[in-house]
Amino acid sequence: METVSLVKSDDYSLASLRRNVISLLEPLGGISAFVRSGDRILIKPNMLSAKDPGRAVTTHPALVRVVAELVVELGGIAMIGDSPGFGSFQRVAEKSGIYAAALDSGAELVEFNEAVEVQGNGTFRSIQLARAYYEADTIINLPKLKTHEMMTMTCAVKNLFGAVVGAGKAVWHLKAGSSRQMFARLLLEIYLLKKPALNIVDAIVAMEGNGPGSGDPVKLGLLIAGVNPVAVDVIAGRLAGIPADLLHIEQEAVRMGLPGAMIQDIELCGEPLESVSKGCFKLPAGLDVQFGLPSFLAKTLKNHLTSYPAADPKVCVLCGVCRDACPPEAITIQNSALSVDNARCIRCWCCRELCPHDAMVVTRSLVLRTLMRLSGTKAT
Ligand code: SF4
Ligand code: SF4
Repeated sequence: METVSLVKSDDYSLASLRRNVISLLEPLGGISAFVRSGDRILIKPNMLSAKDPGRAVTTHPALVRVVAELVVELGGIAMIGDSPGFGSFQRVAEKSGIYAAALDSGAELVEFNEAVEVQGNGTFRSIQLARAYYEADTIINLPKLKTHEMMTMTCAVKNLFGAVVGAGKAVWHLKAGSSRQMFARLLLEIYLLKKPALNIVDAIVAMEGNGPGSGDPVKLGLLIAGVNPVAVDVIAGRLAGIPADLLHIEQEAVRMGLPGAMIQDIELCGEPLESVSKGCFKLPAGLDVQFGLPSFLAKTLKNHLTSYPAADPKVCVLCGVCRDACPPEAITIQNSALSVDNARCIRCWCCRELCPHDAMVVTRSLVLRTLMRLSGTKAT
């Protein structure tokens, strides 16, 4: 059985958060089960982009600080690191409050800017991971629970994609193409190459809607922890009320036979799920919906059933951030207009995730809009 711990935690005030993290970790043996004096402990928050903590885009700095302080008190060498999806590491650290959290806790901030080649034995034979991540003695993963345009939800497993340095992320998106299953496989294989020792989820204020960068903060008032990030994500998905068939990482983990992928293999300690689950999170606008169509029909109608990104000309300032981040180079800016080549687009939604002006919108064909209306599918 995989143990997952769940406690209520109302807000980010340091004293109560510290008490709650300590009680959260009790069923897992306490923080001392994961930290040895002198070990280099890499704390990996979500540092997607330079946003205020109140936007719920990044892991809250109070949680980062509390965990780093606990590591330092046990004699561990605390490092806080990531490779942001967008913007400079320094800027993201400052804006998210994580820079101050590092200063206050005595942890070192480590930008993931050097990669090492790691040999895998799965579908992906060789993956470059950040040296600081791969060579740390212990990883403590601190994800934020959010919806995700491509994968429906991002939590413990997806947060480890930050171990891929900078532009390497776009290359991997391109290799996985438009297949959510293949991208989920990649994320799971990244996790298996260097397993975090501990995962603590910031679900005090989560994100719903158009996550991971532009959704709405939603208060859950919860912390989740476990050794196995797959099991942690299964519980997080149930808390968010997201149907399991939309959780691509969980589905792929089941196909791979990974421990923790089945809810019956998880022992939940602390709050009972049913007493704290919220209804279904608002889901992202770009989500795939199959409407239960037979696969031959879904294949024939693929182009009509697929949503694509398009820039809202009233909001887009033609800054080029999306064009530069687009893995298959499907975006062009010419004659003061932005266009997306749908045939090239792999629907990774990086453009929506990274647009600093929320100018990328989701477009749907008439067929898709009609089917959504008839099936009662709610669009964000
Ligand atoms: S990033 Fe946003 S504002 Fe900039 S060009 Fe793309 S859609 Fe327009
Ligand atoms: S246009 Fe947007 S969704 Fe399509 S491939 Fe480029 S970044 Fe991804």
